[in-house]
Amino acid sequence: MQLYSTNNKDLSVSFKEAVFNSMPQDKGLYMPVQIPRLDQDFIAHIEQYSLPEIAYKIASTLLKDEIPEKDLRALIEDAANFDAPIVKLDIKTFVLELFHGPSLAFKDFGARFMSRVMAYFLKDGEQLLDVLVATSGDTGGAVALGFLGVPNTRVTILFPKGKVSEIQRLQLTTNGENIRAIAVNGTFDDCQSLVKQAFADEELNSKFRLTSANSINIARLIPQTFYYFNAYAQLKQQGFNAVVFSVPSGNFGNIGAGLLAYKMGLPVQQFIAATNANDTVPRFLETGVYETKPSVQTYSNAMDVGAPSNWVRIMDLFNEDQAAICKIVKAYVFSDDETLLGITEIYSKYNYIACPHTAIGYLAAKAFAAENPSNEAANVFLSTAHACKFPDFLSVAEPLPEQVSMLHQKEELYTELEKDFEGFKKYLAESGLKI
Ligand SMILES: *Cc1c(COP(=O)(O)O)cnc(C)c1O
Repeated sequence: MQLYSTNNKDLSVSFKEAVFNSMPQDKGLYMPVQIPRLDQDFIAHIEQYSLPEIAYKIASTLLKDEIPEKDLRALIEDAANFDAPIVKLDIKTFVLELFHGPSLAFKDFGARFMSRVMAYFLKDGEQLLDVLVATSGDTGGAVALGFLGVPNTRVTILFPKGKVSEIQRLQLTTNGENIRAIAVNGTFDDCQSLVKQAFADEELNSKFRLTSANSINIARLIPQTFYYFNAYAQLKQQGFNAVVFSVPSGNFGNIGAGLLAYKMGLPVQQFIAATNANDTVPRFLETGVYETKPSVQTYSNAMDVGAPSNWVRIMDLFNEDQAAICKIVKAYVFSDDETLLGITEIYSKYNYIACPHTAIGYLAAKAFAAENPSNEAANVFLSTAHACKFPDFLSVAEPLPEQVSMLHQKEELYTELEKDFEGFKKYLAESGLKI
């Protein structure tokens, strides 16, 4: 697979290069030069296959020239080792649960696959890969647990002290091995600024092999297509042929992967972009004017993005054709008050506990169904995180999944730093070239 930059279609880099660069120098995003379609026969009989089998089919269609079959199979088995079940709520409403991975959020799919792809491309004896990540919550946990124990890699995670939930903090600080956590006396923006300065620092770059693991890496997008195909397979088993996916969206990576799956031949009737008050994309779909704005804080904080970084990928997938995008993507916006009502309603109607992000997906699916009462398609909303990660919004106490209950028995280890770059640079510079 060759990739170009959304800012320069003449560029052509290998998958390996795109994975380690994360972003082209021209600040565009990497996109495949060609998007292959899965063979018709496979899709026609997809209900016969398991998630790892479907994942292998997609990955091999995209990456057969980069990673030989045997290695790719092993990589997929290891990366896609947890389920993504659909749960039926009523005759045609389903929730696609994406929170059964190690950090209890859908970002595990991307992070786990990316870490293994990076480890695969690192040759024996090559310099240790140093991954720097700033996190406001969910990304850090997925990256930490995704890279935990992956040979020849070391992860340094910066989080704003006191500003992540307890479970999120424990997921960052109890790992040890090749994972280091830093509590920064500042905000998420301060953390991100420290990481950016490190990437721009010549001295650090000459000593360490630095890379970012952020959500725009192409190796995070690809594995997110797996669960869309797998959800379709599960719906076919239940007799559905048409499907509507409602996707709680912030940076638009998740729905972007859904649209990539669609371009690869997945039959989807409709995508729904479900957002909170950060409504840059819904406004664009309505007015044709793309205007970013500073993010505002909401209860669904993993979706508080005013300038969604993956949107250019979606525009690129549809050759900038706004009318075509408006046809396949509908958007709905919900306030914090509506989010709370949504959580309560899912619980009272279906006895189902949803996190604030998932509740927005539910509300959007419901709004679309109300506007299309005779639609026979399965209505699927994606659950992007386990409700226990957002305890302030839990409608009732529920037993904690084992990924969480065991965290409390582990020792927390982290370094505290101020938000000035000199301190962070000294911390990095003093670490050895081996773990
Ligand atoms: C990251 C995240 C989202 C938003 O996903 P995007 O790919 O950025 O649109 C939604 N919900 C949760 C729980 C998340 O962690």
